[in-house]
Amino acid sequence: MLYHSMTSTNHVLTALVTGSTRCNGIGLGIAKCLAKNHNMNIILHGTRDRATKEVEKCQSDLAKEYNVSVHYIQADLSTSSGAQQLCEQIDGIYPDGIDVLVNNAGDGHQNLVEDVPLQKWESVLTINLTSPFVLIKHFIPAMKKRGWGRIINISSVLGVRAHAKSAVYTSSKHGLNGLTKVVGKEAADTGVTCNAVSPGWVETELYLKTLDKKVKTDGISKEEAKTILMNPTKKYVTPEQIGENVSFLCSRAADNTTCAVLNIDGGCSS
Ligand code: NAD
Repeated sequence: MLYHSMTSTNHVLTALVTGSTRCNGIGLGIAKCLAKNHNMNIILHGTRDRATKEVEKCQSDLAKEYNVSVHYIQADLSTSSGAQQLCEQIDGIYPDGIDVLVNNAGDGHQNLVEDVPLQKWESVLTINLTSPFVLIKHFIPAMKKRGWGRIINISSVLGVRAHAKSAVYTSSKHGLNGLTKVVGKEAADTGVTCNAVSPGWVETELYLKTLDKKVKTDGISKEEAKTILMNPTKKYVTPEQIGENVSFLCSRAADNTTCAVLNIDGGCSS
């Protein structure tokens, strides 16, 4: 494989990918590429119990297919204490810290500003922005100390643009792009990079939820809604394409790539 990441030792790299146990989700696509291309040990994360069939299957398939160690941790990232608990559970497994942090978990809420409940604003903002901050704050010191680390935040086209009825999602992703650039700058001479990857439309549960809402609020058919919620290439971006780009950011070729927002969006943001 073209991509080859390594610290100066033969240390096996460990990656946490939040929100990574939905079979058609971006998170699992990223986890698979990191295991396949870099042989990384993977920490999967989600909100469901570890005994849930889909969660068990993700964990065992990944371990078998790529012969890497795979843990699963359940944590609700809609509160900062949930994010803190995730950190503590990981410390219990990897006391020296992790090498790669992918902040992928995300949620949205579609309503006019005046109709967004404050509680919803706070919980979505926490999942999309505060929890990534908590995780970065917790894991970056050990990365800096080791002299190598990768932080990758999964942003969105709405990190640089805006749609009506997306106040909290758009605000959180704009914030996430800002956080990415600040963390990248602060770590620039430490061997740790921080970048954002910004997908266009990917056919996942989050997308299907957005599609259903569009059908209901605009009174249009699913087919019509799909032509609106589509990338200019008229193709969905795939979780694997996002995963391969995250994988590239973990490679030596990306040693000098930091503070970047990498668009994988079929031209959506231009
Ligand atoms: P998805 O619904 O498949 O995945 C979202 C993940 O976030 C899930 O694994 C879920 O468990 C996790 N999550 C949601 N609420 C949580 C909570 N309270 N606590 C902990 N985890 C929680 O959707 P996806 O499309 O794979 O989304 C992944 C990322 O990609 C998100 O950050 C999203 O904003 C971003 N994104 C998606 C699209 C798209 O078109 N699908 C486009 C741009 C950006």
